[in-house]
Amino acid sequence: MMKKFIKAVLAGVMFLCCLACANRVSARDKDGDLVVIIDPGHGGRDSGAVQNGLTEKELNWNIATSLKAELETYEGVKVYLTKGYGEWNSNTGRGRYGVGLGGDIFISCHNNSGSATARGSIVFTTVNSKYHDEMGKLANLILDNLNQAGFIRNGIQSRPSSGNPSADYYTALDEAAKAGMPSMIIEHCYISNAEDAAFISNLENQYKAGAADAAGIAQYYGLKKRTVSAGSSINLTRTYSASFTGVQGKFASSDENVAYVSDNGLITAMSQGSAVITCTSDDGSKKTVNVTVPAVTQVAVTAGINPTFYDNVNQAKNIDTSLVMMKAVYNDGSSVQVKGTIGNAGNPVNGTTNVFDIPISYGGYSNTLRVYGYSAVGTAYSSNHIPSGTNKDILLVPGNYSVKTNGNVTPEEPVTPAPTTPAPTTPVPTTPTPTEPETTVTVPDETKTPESVSSNEVTSKDIITDKTTEKNTSSDTDSNSVLKVIKIVVIVLLVLCAGAAAVFLVFYLKNKNK
Ligand SMILES: [Zn+2]
Repeated sequence: MMKKFIKAVLAGVMFLCCLACANRVSARDKDGDLVVIIDPGHGGRDSGAVQNGLTEKELNWNIATSLKAELETYEGVKVYLTKGYGEWNSNTGRGRYGVGLGGDIFISCHNNSGSATARGSIVFTTVNSKYHDEMGKLANLILDNLNQAGFIRNGIQSRPSSGNPSADYYTALDEAAKAGMPSMIIEHCYISNAEDAAFISNLENQYKAGAADAAGIAQYYGLKKRTVSAGSSINLTRTYSASFTGVQGKFASSDENVAYVSDNGLITAMSQGSAVITCTSDDGSKKTVNVTVPAVTQVAVTAGINPTFYDNVNQAKNIDTSLVMMKAVYNDGSSVQVKGTIGNAGNPVNGTTNVFDIPISYGGYSNTLRVYGYSAVGTAYSSNHIPSGTNKDILLVPGNYSVKTNGNVTPEEPVTPAPTTPAPTTPVPTTPTPTEPETTVTVPDETKTPESVSSNEVTSKDIITDKTTEKNTSSDTDSNSVLKVIKIVVIVLLVLCAGAAAVFLVFYLKNKNK
């Protein structure tokens, strides 16, 4: 009887302990991996903010690719970018990019613009009640890491749509959350501030921003670094990294184009093939690791169109399919524009009358393109959808900011049916996408044209620096630290309970033996 009671108490304590830890939002894909969708803000025709000699889209790209590279040093993580270098994507297309990829979280990388005195990093978390609190916890960790890397901590904010308080103002965040992906925008610096601008203009600091974002994500999800030890073999997907551990000395690769090794033994997979990594110690003894980098394989198809919002149901159901940007997505996180099959809009999406999912397919994969039949004033930007090399510079060597690889560019793929080999091998110069004047992409009301508006993302107009916001920001931070303290107290109490139960058990068993 007593034994049963003790068992029950112990089970209860363990259950409570588990509850305390299992508070993370994560769906995981079919392989059980965490799937992170990273959105390099703006791009192509949309420069984002341009101030103090900085162009936001370039900063965002460097931060996003660094974040990708750093995350890929961890086990059990897949990372996809919503767009290639020089490319643009619609906000809806970005938010829905993870659909079909098993996306667990959507993170958009930006830099801020506002008054000349506003400074620091702000995270905008989704207002979606399912994810808002958890994204606040993640945002806190990211801001802590950014702060340690030299960024000023400004705070956490959320911005509801003016017409619908339960929806996000930012279309990409809203679409991602609606598709089951908790979402956030990280505004790393104010490039409108001279000191912030000087700080983030340094390429090393841009990479450190990505590394700090990655560290926060790794802490939140409890990720572990990927390692490989002497005498073993490892299959390493292109762009992934593994640390050669348990050895000391000088590292070398038999083929740096296949597997690059940094001075501290971090191996990064570059392109398909095999290589031997050798560590030579001071006494001349050698230890090796065999690395095999498999061919890049397609994992999904996605599509976007601009505008995605149409005046009425009929327009939405009968889109101009020549404007659809369809992309094959590969397991190194890259994508290539392709011409696949586009079906017809059937019935409206469940519970709606004017939202349609148009079926798309390519390379044996299928997905949908979502369009909306209301309030469109948008212009079709077919020129945004020109094919472009998309693997350019996604190969950063993590933690080694002086090394930046820029070979291995995806061949510029013409929009023709079914290319058989997607593997990125031949370097091709990327055609620069013409950037349209800012005025052509600025539309005042997000409720009318959430899609065709670059200002729908964070720009100078969107940044609120009034006292109310600052108050909200600090109270967010305060309530988070209170939560932290409560958490610690609960954990201490639980540990004490477990200890008391154990002591009780020992006494009980001792007395029973007597
Ligand atoms: Zn931006």
